[in-house]
Amino acid sequence: MDSLLKHMVDMTGHRDHSMLDISVLAAVQELSGARRTRVLTIGAVRGRKFVRARAVAIPGQPPRMEDGPEPGLPGDPLEHFPALANCIANREACAELVEADGSMLLWMPIWIGDKLDTVLEIHMPEKCDPDRVQMILGIVAVYRNFQNLLDYSERDSLTGLLNRKTFDDQLSKMLQTSAEELNLPGAPERRHHSEQEKNWLAVVDVDHFKAVNDRFGHLYGDEVLILIANLLTSSFRAQDRVFRFGGEEFVVLLRSTSLENARKIIERFRKNVESHVFPQVGKVTVSVGFVTVSAYESPVATLGRADQALYYAKSHGRNQACHYDDLVQTGELQSAASNDTAEFF
Ligand code: GH3
Ligand code: MG
Ligand code: MG
Repeated sequence: MDSLLKHMVDMTGHRDHSMLDISVLAAVQELSGARRTRVLTIGAVRGRKFVRARAVAIPGQPPRMEDGPEPGLPGDPLEHFPALANCIANREACAELVEADGSMLLWMPIWIGDKLDTVLEIHMPEKCDPDRVQMILGIVAVYRNFQNLLDYSERDSLTGLLNRKTFDDQLSKMLQTSAEELNLPGAPERRHHSEQEKNWLAVVDVDHFKAVNDRFGHLYGDEVLILIANLLTSSFRAQDRVFRFGGEEFVVLLRSTSLENARKIIERFRKNVESHVFPQVGKVTVSVGFVTVSAYESPVATLGRADQALYYAKSHGRNQACHYDDLVQTGELQSAASNDTAEFF
């Protein structure tokens, strides 16, 4: 019991999803005597569900985060795990599968409301007695509640998007992952490819939003923000991150893609907004400023450059996306560096 309490204290002391995954694995692995325990992510690509390991624990080693399959691949199709797929479809608390060697696989989906993106998988050396399953389900319940709390503190309550507080963290995670991908062994081809692929930051601001509030009232204004948040999530890719920075301003982090693609994805979003008919309000447009993200520059400086491009878009007709480097190259904007240099002369 002491050990169970110690694990509970450890689990609830974290403020980070990865650390929470690690501590639930440590607890379940030790208390169940499993061969292997994993936290699985359930993702969807074009309506099809995939399973991917995100953390793993095996006896005698500290639990660790998994790098997952090749970057960009979604994992194994859920239908390869019929017992788990059935359990999810029927919203059951637990699925079991006895393997040919008598060992047993246990899956426990972590439902948060109607949403499921995490499953705990426990591989037991033999059939697990019901008391032990109940104890593990208890740990899973604490894990779920705590995940829910973490999620709540990271999201904006109106739109459900990530909030500004999480931005620095997400940005450094993105930069770290791309640095690791660049250092993958072998693959000179990929390395060459990665030179063209960069991370991008886009600042999105709704055009004349004050007029929407003034004409239709705050409630309709809020509805527009929710619909724009939905258009953002559906226009960008699963590996990108979308934030509400407050008011009618949003920020998107786009992972590893070429300038041409970044431009295409951002334009697709801008056009999706332009062509959407907002109930009662009708037409709404957005302006966007975007820049490359570099590990050598502070988040504030990157945001500042994106803001300059956004300001340019606003003062040159709105409803357009402007790339900071383009504006500097054509002399429409002066880069911060050249301003600094100018002071020397
Ligand atoms: P511009 O095209 O230059 O961006 O013009 P704008 O009217 O969008 O910009 P401005 O900054 O003048 O106005 C932003 C408005 O957004 C003012 C504020 O009332 C409204 N706003 C900020 N947060 C919220 C919110 O949560 N809900 C609603 N309904 N309105 C909000
Ligand atoms: Mg605005
Ligand atoms: Mg604004």
